[in-house]
Amino acid sequence: MGHQYPSSVAEMRGVKAEGGWGVVNTEEAEISYTSELSGAIEGRLWDDSDIPALAKMVDRVHRHGALAGIEPAHLGAGAANNYSREIPMGPSARPIDAFEPVHARAMDKADIKAFRKMHVDAAIRAKKAGFDIVYVYAGHDMTTLMHFLSHTRNDRIDEYGGSLENRVRLLREVLMDTKEAIGDTTAVAIRLAVDEMKGAGGIAASAEGREIVEMLAELPDLWDVNVSGWENDSATSRFSEEGYQTEYISFVKSLTSKPVVGVGRFTSPDTMVSMIRKGVMDLIGAARPSIADPFLPKKVYEGRIEDIRECIGCNICVSGDFLAHPMRCTQNPTMGEEWRRGWHPEHIAKKANDDSVLIVGAGPAGLEAARALGQRGHKVTIAEAGDAVGGRVVIEARLPGLSAWKRVADYREYQINQMVNVDVYLQSSLTAAQVLEFGADHVVIATGSRWSTSGIGRTNRLAIAADAAAKIMSPDEINAGQSPAGPIVIFDDDYYYMAGLIAEKLRAQGHDVTYVTPAADVSHWTHHTMEQERIQTKLMQMGVKIVPLHNVTHIGAESVELACVYTQKTHKLPCGTFIPVTMRSAIDTLYQEISASSGGALKSLTRIGDCLAPGTIAAAVYSGHKYAREFGEPPREGVPFRRELPALAKD
Ligand code: ADP
Ligand code: SF4
Repeated sequence: MGHQYPSSVAEMRGVKAEGGWGVVNTEEAEISYTSELSGAIEGRLWDDSDIPALAKMVDRVHRHGALAGIEPAHLGAGAANNYSREIPMGPSARPIDAFEPVHARAMDKADIKAFRKMHVDAAIRAKKAGFDIVYVYAGHDMTTLMHFLSHTRNDRIDEYGGSLENRVRLLREVLMDTKEAIGDTTAVAIRLAVDEMKGAGGIAASAEGREIVEMLAELPDLWDVNVSGWENDSATSRFSEEGYQTEYISFVKSLTSKPVVGVGRFTSPDTMVSMIRKGVMDLIGAARPSIADPFLPKKVYEGRIEDIRECIGCNICVSGDFLAHPMRCTQNPTMGEEWRRGWHPEHIAKKANDDSVLIVGAGPAGLEAARALGQRGHKVTIAEAGDAVGGRVVIEARLPGLSAWKRVADYREYQINQMVNVDVYLQSSLTAAQVLEFGADHVVIATGSRWSTSGIGRTNRLAIAADAAAKIMSPDEINAGQSPAGPIVIFDDDYYYMAGLIAEKLRAQGHDVTYVTPAADVSHWTHHTMEQERIQTKLMQMGVKIVPLHNVTHIGAESVELACVYTQKTHKLPCGTFIPVTMRSAIDTLYQEISASSGGALKSLTRIGDCLAPGTIAAAVYSGHKYAREFGEPPREGVPFRRELPALAKD
């Protein structure tokens, strides 16, 4: 949320401090207008006018006794500077990392001097804002300090290039400058990516990563170590386990007497304790686990382990960064809403009336509505047609790599089981008559959605023409375990994870699978969750045939016709079963029937989650939570949340 939503940031971080985190850090904070990532929204420390916004965050963090940390960063050849229009600069003259027609120029000695001063000035501003810990940031392959370290980015022939000693020089100088400037009262931490996960060609824990730590061992007050790039550091649960960075960072503690912190999507207290006991790190770091549950430390401290709302490793939070909107979280619907809606992750207003609620459907939307209404003290009944709660989450968690997603249901099921005022009925597929007979004051329909087989979606506004003998199966049928006849053609006009996962699942079963998409690459939206490259690599390695930039125009009994999205030129592919992954349709018949027959018997009838409009699991959880928050409260006029507008200049 960075510099655009300062009060949202302050409140969100204050809540984390309240939840027991010992230190609460900012995101990367740009140290100068000459290196800015406009488009994305980072923190800013450009000049003194940025101090009040950061000071507000520090104040909220200090109120709860935690320390506040800041990560000043110069993004160099990683940022296009589209707002300031300054020419980016880095160790060497190169095109910048983003796919933009911009080159960075090589820094000369005057630039290096100015760069060192930028860091010092930013550190002084950070101290003025009240921060207790100020970072020197060489993580993620995103900052100039890390770019200097890399022999693949730094081909200088002066004392800042060539040998590793030379490439480390600038990092050492900035560390010493910062200590000199603010080190008397403020801790100076270093964040270093000790392994780029590129093998011997890059910075590696077994080679240069280790040597850098050896060279700077006692200089910083705190070592914060990770792997780079960001897609490796914040890998999803589909591709990595909790603690996945351990093998790369575990050497650091043996080389320094200073405290070491690391990350690894830690949500299990046992794993955290073992990290400390084994001497891998002294302090447990977390971004995503603290987003999913800002109160994780307090729950550990109080022995309420079952109450931890564990991160599922989906990176919906990360997508907010790429799409430049405030952060959302699948598990924590209050994330980003702390200030603007006044939502607290642990507290909710007590019920405003004694009305009872019947919820039909125990997917993420229904479960979250039941949990939060139950927390408010309402009498809630939740009826679920299936044998278990969780809806789509239970089904999708069986897809390759998604087992952690079941935590969305597990957390809520456990919470609801503790509540005497919430009753869950399984194997209870309700009809409209049964719902009305039940006699609840309010009825919530959370019956979800199903994948459509028509082919209608973003590319095809009308159903794809199909022969009567064509064999078409939906993702729901595949997920229910039905066997398609090969060869299989999957058509991805959805662009998120489902088509790629079905391709992976069916290929692993030995099927001949072709994946067709109008996009240029596989599971295109997963660029925003930093998974795209891994997904496509995996499918290619498994032998899934990929046909990008094509639409499906006809489905026959033994073949499908494809058309190039540019030239419309067609060709045919053999096809025994066609699986369209294009759109989902709300299952809202029950809602329509009750609407038509209730005759004023109910105080309210409401659709939530995918039954209202199919979306992400995060959207379904949010929908259920929002319903519970607003239940019985007076409706708000106008924009239902606070906004922070830019201060208007006087002239
Ligand atoms: P959402 O993501 O909106 O929570 P899901 O599809 O995950 O939606 O969950 C919907 C749940 O509703 C499923 O578990 C399904 O079994 C259940 N359901 C659908 N129709 C009925 C019904 N008539 N009675 C009870 N449960 C139903
Ligand atoms: Fe974890 Fe997903 Fe929430 Fe991010 S959005 S914190 S990955 S559960």
